Amino acid sequence: MRMEASMLVHTVLLLLGGCWALPQDIRIVGMFHKDVDDLQDEAFRCAVDRLNEEQKLLPGSRLLPELVYVPAHDSYTAGKLVCNRTQSGITAVFGPQSADCKGVVSSICGLVRLPNLQTSWDVSADSHSPGTLNLHPHPDLLAQAVFDVVKYLEWKTFAVIYQRHDGLMRLQEVFKSLDKWMVTSVYQLAEDGDYRVMFKTLSKSSQTHMLIDCDTNLIQEVLSQARDVNMLGDYENYLFTSLDAHTLDYIDFQPFMTNITFLRMISPSSVEMQAAMRDWNTRGCRPVSAENMKVAPSLMYDAVSMFAISLIRADASEPIESQSLSCARPQPWVHGEHVNRYMKMFKFLGLSGEVSFDALSGRRKDITLEVMEVSHAKLRKIGNWTMHGGITQEKDYGAQVSQEAKQMMRNKTFIIASKIGKPYLDWKNRSASGNDRFEGFSLDLIDAVAKFCHFKAYEFKIVQDNQHGKLNTETGQWNGIMGEVISRRADMGICDLTITYSRGSAVDFSAPFMNLGISILFTKPTKDPPEMFSFFFPFSFDVWVYMATAFLGVSLVLFVLCRITPHEWDNPNPMDDNPEELENTFNLLNCLWFSIGSIMAQGCDLLPRAVSTRMAAGMWWFFALIITSSYTANLAAFLTNSRMDDTIGSVEDLAAQTKVKFGSLRGGATAQFFEASNYTVYQRISAMMKQTKPDVFTSSNQEGVDRVVKERGKYAFFMESISIEYETERNCELMPINGLLDSKGYGIALPFNSPYRTFVSEAILKLSETGKIKDIKDKWWLVKDGTGCSELLQQKEEENADELTMANVGGVFLVLMVGCCAAFIVAILEMLWNCRKIAVEEKITPWEALLSELKFAVNLSQTTKPNRKKKSEKSNSSADSSVSGSDLVAASRK
Ligand code: GLU
Repeated sequence: MRMEASMLVHTVLLLLGGCWALPQDIRIVGMFHKDVDDLQDEAFRCAVDRLNEEQKLLPGSRLLPELVYVPAHDSYTAGKLVCNRTQSGITAVFGPQSADCKGVVSSICGLVRLPNLQTSWDVSADSHSPGTLNLHPHPDLLAQAVFDVVKYLEWKTFAVIYQRHDGLMRLQEVFKSLDKWMVTSVYQLAEDGDYRVMFKTLSKSSQTHMLIDCDTNLIQEVLSQARDVNMLGDYENYLFTSLDAHTLDYIDFQPFMTNITFLRMISPSSVEMQAAMRDWNTRGCRPVSAENMKVAPSLMYDAVSMFAISLIRADASEPIESQSLSCARPQPWVHGEHVNRYMKMFKFLGLSGEVSFDALSGRRKDITLEVMEVSHAKLRKIGNWTMHGGITQEKDYGAQVSQEAKQMMRNKTFIIASKIGKPYLDWKNRSASGNDRFEGFSLDLIDAVAKFCHFKAYEFKIVQDNQHGKLNTETGQWNGIMGEVISRRADMGICDLTITYSRGSAVDFSAPFMNLGISILFTKPTKDPPEMFSFFFPFSFDVWVYMATAFLGVSLVLFVLCRITPHEWDNPNPMDDNPEELENTFNLLNCLWFSIGSIMAQGCDLLPRAVSTRMAAGMWWFFALIITSSYTANLAAFLTNSRMDDTIGSVEDLAAQTKVKFGSLRGGATAQFFEASNYTVYQRISAMMKQTKPDVFTSSNQEGVDRVVKERGKYAFFMESISIEYETERNCELMPINGLLDSKGYGIALPFNSPYRTFVSEAILKLSETGKIKDIKDKWWLVKDGTGCSELLQQKEEENADELTMANVGGVFLVLMVGCCAAFIVAILEMLWNCRKIAVEEKITPWEALLSELKFAVNLSQTTKPNRKKKSEKSNSSADSSVSGSDLVAASRK
């Protein structure tokens, strides 16, 4: 409509100006190829008919078209035909399309300054003659658009497939702009039409992204052969450079969620296209729908309109007349330059969008391309591409894609790659079928995710090598679960799969479902058996010696002070005010007794009275206070805490010794962590692990744990904290050493650009927020029958488990027993001494005296003991002694 309006205004202006001098018949030539059925001749005819019929644009004149057909590869005939026509006074040549012919036509037109409007680019004949205008966007511009699409789609690596060499040349700008490593391989479509071998190779190399430059009519065949070799799944991505890919029918590929992307120049819904199509179909031209309109006929249609309008404009400023031109004696058309200039200045909205040219290069500028994708056989617009603005995504595109993926999930059976390894996945019943064969954390987690996301079903698949996944730098292949996911033999990979940088560049990870770090698994240090005399440990031997010395010294000082000071000498008989003798209670024995009583915190019935002795006593008490409190404070710790063999306390300790060997899981994230680290200690650890013989790497975590237990104290195993938690819950002999060396997480691996990643991540986040993941973890980690180490430890703590055993305090009992025995021996000695005295005093035999004393001692009914000394004194003083030793003996006999 806008085009029509502008044309009308322009015509009116021209009529008012009255300065048009165009010939009545404006002769133009359209050069086409019979063997190429691209509707260009139809478009040419239709456009001319329309202009002639409407007459608004060319009042008084009409376009006289001549359609010339030349074989596509016959440049000689093409040149000859053009030269023939120039003599009849033509004003422009449209076409041809073939690379072989257009060069010669362009040169002839350039020679005689005749406008030549072309609609296709041939990279090999890029140089354009003056007078030739190409409405097709330049390949460099298309390459820029392709590059932007690759970036927008976040392709990390891709394979390039081309049909002809000119395709590769077209793409060279893409190669130049991208990093070299992004293009992993380049293939040419086989001439015999069998592309399956190529796709099989691509499948083996796990390449899922393909950039294909081929003719539009080959696209369906390429896709169907890709489908034959399973290269048309949910994770494959195809980007076609053809601008006509939208005209194809993708119904055969409906069930696949493969990403098929391309650029579209022709917008079927544009106002210009709708108007042109209405006109086209009423004009008796070969019917075609707006959706099936290709670039070439659209450009031809636009070219004719553009030429006509430019001619009118040019005529307004300089009356145009046609001229017979000869190729033999070339003479330029006098208006040629002028008309050309007007064409380049011209700007209008055609079927191929805004038609405008760069004045210098003569290439089309300000082109808008639509980025399209095929979704279940239907076309969907991702967004618009412009040279300066890049890609602008359609508003509702994201929501549509997400909705579609959700729908797909409900109909999909997901293959979940995993490995056997407790507690993540283990055999439950090998003879069962499907998922009933397994049990473990991974199974429960996927089950919860599946319920949340409404998967149709899921099926566990155990990887052959039972590995997590490591890149083989020589072959570039990943093994284990990673390999399965990358090759898309599995839709997800789950186990204790650590999210690492290198893995993240090969697959997509969900949000982490567990957080962890590397730690060292080691056996708990052995406790020394409790010692009988451990109550001596609070003080060192020196302190004991010094204390004993101090005790003797203080007792001695006290004794001397008491003898010196007058205040310690006291009246022994309170009834006698003036005694002949004074008595000092602090003899040496009592001084010792006083000192020992104080330091034992028992006190003593004897107390000093003089200032000097009190000062000495005070100081001793202060000493005793500090010493006894220190002893008491230390005693408990020494009795309960057995001394531990703590040679390994950190990773640095490990690196600095050779006695304890250490290792990790072979090819796991832990080994890779040490290998890739820049920290000197970790580099040393990695080097030591590699050099140690016999091999310190294990093929599973379980093997590592068994080795730690078996080689008790001689082997430490680097392991992830979550797995250590599981082991230390079951084996109380094991413990982690000194915190975490790093911080990372376990995630579910999905193929690159998996449409399901967002949903799986959402599920993980939701499940962890609601505590479901913790529940599942507790279910598989904790031992519920009360034999779990954490529970035992708790019980121990509750019961104050550090109580002292006989082994701890046995020595004290021994001291008591020895003390009692010593006291008993002293008592016997005292008794013997006393018997000797009695025998002398009472003139009886010592044996009799001993017998009488023993009898008295065992006769518990006798609670008082006669004072034999008193009696003997009495008997000595009275003449007739009434009580004698023999009497006492007799009495004792009774
Ligand atoms: N979780 C590790 C991985 O994904 C395996 C265990 C380890 O290396 O400690 O490779």
